[in-house]
Amino acid sequence: MAEQRALNSGKKSSVLQDAAALTTQLAAGLEKIGLAMKSRTWRREGRAGLGPLQRQVLTLLRSKPGQRAKVSTVANELAVRLPTASEVIATLERKQLVRRRRDMSDGRIVMAQLTAKGNRSCTPSSRMPDRLATATEALSAPEQVVLLTSLVKVIRSLQEQGEISVARMCVSCQYFRPNQHDNADRPHHCGSLNVPLGDRSLRLDCHVYEPASTAQVNEAWANFTGSRTA
Ligand code: SF4
Repeated sequence: MAEQRALNSGKKSSVLQDAAALTTQLAAGLEKIGLAMKSRTWRREGRAGLGPLQRQVLTLLRSKPGQRAKVSTVANELAVRLPTASEVIATLERKQLVRRRRDMSDGRIVMAQLTAKGNRSCTPSSRMPDRLATATEALSAPEQVVLLTSLVKVIRSLQEQGEISVARMCVSCQYFRPNQHDNADRPHHCGSLNVPLGDRSLRLDCHVYEPASTAQVNEAWANFTGSRTA
């Protein structure tokens, strides 16, 4: 009996060690991708004379409708203080990559918009996400879906830990209706685009995203995760 208990305890501890080793490997893998992205970005930024935050501001503006956003939105989404965002945008304006304008409807609001030169400086062909897209093409279609839904979970956890301030993804969007349709391929619904969505079409950076309330996000998240094991 004592022998059996020791055996069971040994098996349990081995399973826990395997799980810990797997999470360590996953974290190491994500860190490696992050380092590769940083290293490539640093090389390119070095050539273009852009700092990491300047690059982030350009990329953020590029993702916005009309390639423009309030300076306060830039500060909020990049999790930096307003004076820091204002300073970086002023620097980008001196480099003729961004222009600032007072908002027509409210003169107190300052908008930043990409110039044509700013747009060229972060064209898709020079962006790391395209390299990553090529890398993920090596995965099978089911593997891509598992990776996408796993990334959604990792990003949400990082948001909860305060490491990512805003991610314009479906699961935190007020238009997202998980598991609304009796269709295994496209069970979710986007109320803004009025289209059914499958797991493979979940967005991580959507330009028509609108943030949902905390209660809405929690409810949608419970519904979204409740129907899956992966
Ligand atoms: S608006 Fe965009 S982020 Fe929101 S549910 Fe639709 S596709 Fe997803």
